[in-house]
Amino acid sequence: MAVFACNRCGKCCVSLGPHITIERQLNDRDYYCRCKIDNALFLAQVDPAYREEIADTFTPEDQDRSSPEKRPCIFLRKKPDGDGTACAIYPTRPVVCRDFRCYRMLVYDNRGHLSGKVIGAGEISTPDEALAQVWKEQIASIPHVHPPGGNDPIWVRKVAGLLAIHGYRGDAVE
Ligand code: SF4
Ligand code: SF4
Repeated sequence: MAVFACNRCGKCCVSLGPHITIERQLNDRDYYCRCKIDNALFLAQVDPAYREEIADTFTPEDQDRSSPEKRPCIFLRKKPDGDGTACAIYPTRPVVCRDFRCYRMLVYDNRGHLSGKVIGAGEISTPDEALAQVWKEQIASIPHVHPPGGNDPIWVRKVAGLLAIHGYRGDAVE
């Protein structure tokens, strides 16, 4: 089983602004926040590199907006060196963010090269046309019930078995 490695690209955070909201600012480091996806309250501690920036950005009125429009999470910030984005509360981010996997299985060809990433149970990202075809015709419609932050073991067995028949190896991520 592969271990999921988040590269902190921030792509999953660009529309989560309406779902991760600050309920109360305690000081320039600590904020009581709510994750509206599971309605969980959590204490966010902001990394020193982003404290001033976030304290300056934060306005209670913005957080009260109930608009469903997509906007970035307030804790998604440009890295100080300008190279990509980062979560400013990474060690204290909410459970939903910890559990999120932007892919749930890696698929390798018979030479051990990475051929595709399974994004959801029904979707694969791959440049390999043969794999895409197998996926579409035999795998995409396999029923599944994935638990939060995990994989449906029956789905994993079925998918890995079908991939093996076609010369691929499916490695589910933890
Ligand atoms: S979970 Fe995926 S999309 Fe989100 S930051 Fe990590 S690598 Fe990027
Ligand atoms: S709390 Fe961090 S990981 Fe979660 S959506 Fe916001 S920036 Fe992304």
